[in-house]
Amino acid sequence: MNPWLLTYDGFDPAQEGLREALTTLGNGYFATRGAAPESHADGVHYPGTYVAGCYDRLVSQVAGHPVENEDLVNVPNWLSLTFRAEDGDWFAPGNAEILAHRHTLDMRQGTLTRFLRIRDSQGRITRVEQRRLVSMDDPHLAALTMTIVPENWNGSLEIRSALDGRVTNAGVARYRELDGRHLVPICGHAAHGVIELLTRTATSRVEIALAARTTLADGRCRADVEEGWVGDDRTVEVKAGDEVTVEKIVALYTSRDRAIAESEAAARSAVVRAGCFSTLLKRHTRAWDRLWQRAHVTAQDTEVQQILNLYVFHLLQTASPHIAELDTGLPARGLHGEAYRGHVFWDDLFVIPFLAPRLPEITRALLRYRWRRLPEARWAAHAAGYAGAMFPWQSGSDGREETPRLHFNPRSGRWLPDRSHLQRHVGLAVAFNVWQHYQATKDTAFLAGFGGELLLEVARFFASLATCEKERYAIRGVMGPDEYHDGYPDRAEPGLDNNAYTNVMTAWLMRRVLDMIGLVGSEGVGQQEIELFTALTRRMRVDFHEGVISQFEGYAGLEELDWAAYRKKYGDIRRLDRILEAEGDTPNRYKASKQADVLMLFHLLGEEGLDEILTGLGYEWDATMARNTVDYYLARTCHGSTLSAVVHAGVLARLCPGASHPFLTEALNNDVRDLQAGTTSEGIHLGAMAGVACLFEAKT
Ligand code: BGC
Repeated sequence: MNPWLLTYDGFDPAQEGLREALTTLGNGYFATRGAAPESHADGVHYPGTYVAGCYDRLVSQVAGHPVENEDLVNVPNWLSLTFRAEDGDWFAPGNAEILAHRHTLDMRQGTLTRFLRIRDSQGRITRVEQRRLVSMDDPHLAALTMTIVPENWNGSLEIRSALDGRVTNAGVARYRELDGRHLVPICGHAAHGVIELLTRTATSRVEIALAARTTLADGRCRADVEEGWVGDDRTVEVKAGDEVTVEKIVALYTSRDRAIAESEAAARSAVVRAGCFSTLLKRHTRAWDRLWQRAHVTAQDTEVQQILNLYVFHLLQTASPHIAELDTGLPARGLHGEAYRGHVFWDDLFVIPFLAPRLPEITRALLRYRWRRLPEARWAAHAAGYAGAMFPWQSGSDGREETPRLHFNPRSGRWLPDRSHLQRHVGLAVAFNVWQHYQATKDTAFLAGFGGELLLEVARFFASLATCEKERYAIRGVMGPDEYHDGYPDRAEPGLDNNAYTNVMTAWLMRRVLDMIGLVGSEGVGQQEIELFTALTRRMRVDFHEGVISQFEGYAGLEELDWAAYRKKYGDIRRLDRILEAEGDTPNRYKASKQADVLMLFHLLGEEGLDEILTGLGYEWDATMARNTVDYYLARTCHGSTLSAVVHAGVLARLCPGASHPFLTEALNNDVRDLQAGTTSEGIHLGAMAGVACLFEAKT
């Protein structure tokens, strides 16, 4: 087995979405799913292409209410390439018999190769080989080459190469009630062997320009321009055994790009100037070589090595050095699909520890994305009656709260209120990332500059969120990382009080802000603020019960779930929230968590760090309590997020090595085997992928 190759033999419609997601090619600027070039969105195939930071907002009617959603836009499909023999049908899914089919993703080179042998309705057998790249060298370029061999027929062979802007955002079945028509066609041209398509997004009005140059030796050309579609047909005469090679070189620009006059002209000149496939491939491979030198993680086992290569590959395709020049955050599901609409959550918390020591220019860019949205976060804090900056749980274009008001439970068919915007802890993740970046770079200028500003503004927010009640500071009405608890069963107001993760991390944050002041000075920070920050390091409230940390105040009073009965009845109970809601119940009644919540503290701070904070807060805490806390939540977590297995694998490896193995296996298999029931096809889980790489790095 070659750990750099991921191979899929045959064609399995049920697995096609997963394969497309896992064979996505990208360069940080844009990415394209590994869809067949002759396919359309048809329920099996989904040729999606996403440009980092290119969002659009539409209003839809859901359950009788107007609902506004911002999506990472599925931009026109540049892959479109097909052929036909003489008077036959254009080759498309389902209209020829597939005799052989193989896809190979080469992660070292960053290419996807497809081998195909088909027989059409008239018995004509054709062999096809395709190879594609999305250039890591020039982030605006992509290329696709196709070699066709008629095995048993002679005659004319027609090739159609197109740019298709008639696509919509329709990649996630649960969202199909929402309007996904984000593209407005502007114009298409075909001249001098180049086809061009210009579209714009409906409300954000970003122009997206694509140009393609399709070369075919001796080909005669005919071009067609329809609304939102432009194509280019070529015909050649072939004899059995001939090899015909077509190259399609593509350039993609948007009106947001720098150093251009306008996007269409930029795409046109880029495609005219770009070399042939082999020249692009050489440069692309060199760029990947350089990246791998900085980011490769080794494992002993070849199969594990293959998965690590795959996960680091996808991470680098989303957060590549090219994003240093862009204004983009890290979409939790990569540029690989439409789940969570391309939004940015707290997941970079799992990614920054991997990237900061290796590629700090990338972590800096991700933090700049947050920094540019400080005014919005300040406004959100102010509007909610707080100081500092309140970052949104889901972030997109301008940093306003993008968490949908409603979410859909496919099990019950009901739309339900979504309160996950109460996960204020996302700001703590921003601060943690600032500190990680500083620790990796020791860049005090960063701390004295925008990094410190982020840290301070988040600290101000949490200091104002905490209210002094008797001896302790409390934080009320929030959610922790465990999304299955969004309130108390007997309270109308959503939110929980004194979530241990939020409170302990607030104490951690106050310590770091004080460290920062010690390092770069206290300019702009008042004495009273410093006193408040100091008080919070000593007097944040944390609840305990039965000798363990309580996930939140009142947790001890919740009911125990009958885990065995639920497992017996439903098998996979990762999505316990959906199961309970469909039964007319709610996870809020039970001691049952979606994912690591208290255990996140062990994950981020380590045993010693947590000890330091809890004892600094004046609580009794020792190794036995630590161990009991881990065991307690281990028995009460259903791992409905891919992040959970990563955290459990790491925490248990340190505290209880024997118990960590199943979690490591689950973390490794999460995406490659699609363990979260079909969700990988809608986009990879970047936080978990990076988290896995960190686990192995810690091992070596
Ligand atoms: C998890 C969150 C995560 C989000 C995006 C959810 O399922 O519960 O912790 O941020 O997915 O990956």
